[in-house]
Amino acid sequence: MAEKENHPETSDSKYEEFYCCYLLRSLKYKQTSYIGSTNDPKRRLRQHNGEIASGAKKTTNKRPWEMILFVYGFPNHVAALQFEWSWQNPSKTRRLHLKDRQEFHDDNKLSTSFKALSKMLKDKFWSRWPLHLHILIPIESIIIQQMKIDATKFFDIKNLSKNIRVTNGNLDDFNNYHKGFIRKIIRNEYLKFLDHTKNDLPYYCNLCLENINFNNHKDYLNCLNMNCNMSYHITCLAKKFTKIEALENSTFNEPYNELNEEILPINGKCPNCNTFLLWGDLIQAMMIREKYIQDDLILLNE
Ligand SMILES: [Zn+2]
Ligand SMILES: [Zn+2]
Repeated sequence: MAEKENHPETSDSKYEEFYCCYLLRSLKYKQTSYIGSTNDPKRRLRQHNGEIASGAKKTTNKRPWEMILFVYGFPNHVAALQFEWSWQNPSKTRRLHLKDRQEFHDDNKLSTSFKALSKMLKDKFWSRWPLHLHILIPIESIIIQQMKIDATKFFDIKNLSKNIRVTNGNLDDFNNYHKGFIRKIIRNEYLKFLDHTKNDLPYYCNLCLENINFNNHKDYLNCLNMNCNMSYHITCLAKKFTKIEALENSTFNEPYNELNEEILPINGKCPNCNTFLLWGDLIQAMMIREKYIQDDLILLNE
């Protein structure tokens, strides 16, 4: 059993490049927090707590630690590191507006960590990322001592963008949930790929009606609804979603203008079946499909 810990790369996340930024609180000094990042939160928490050997030296004298929450869904590893740095240094990060930055001293107070995360997730820059949040300790149960109020005053999950998926539970719950989520994506993408390529009939993008080459994985997206067989060029669907967003945000004084369209969509509905789709999920599914089919592995054992 113990040997398994020495091989984090054998964990089951081969097709998703999971990476998260997490928030810890010291159980010894309850208002002290720590922000870090990892591809394996369960293992990382054990390292912070000295249960397995590691380089988590900075946190040794404030043990034990508990994990409160983590943010995941970063488009790549570098993006996760940028997020981590900004969260640790909210007064310095240029990713936050100057007005917001000025409210902060970069310290390791729990209240600061909650407030910084709240500002970041609402900021124009980060709020367009396909981020998700997993909560291990209910925020309302955490008391900020110096003010004798609970932490929802700093970090209110009810006010987050609907683009952010929020889940709750311990780390085992999360692993099961996430494994199931990824397995569902693999299944959807794989079965649709087989269906699209089994005979030589041409398939068309449901928006521009031009041909799709299903071996060019980075060119197209599949609807995430298992029962909807529609595929779209990535550029066609992005254009459709950003246009709808711009139209919805237009007003009498600020009418729709193509130049106001965002470059990256955040969500939209499948033009065929009306399923609500998060852009981040579509891109993740596309990346999983590309890797999965290239590796030609059969993971469909149920
Ligand atoms: Zn198209
Ligand atoms: Zn659909």
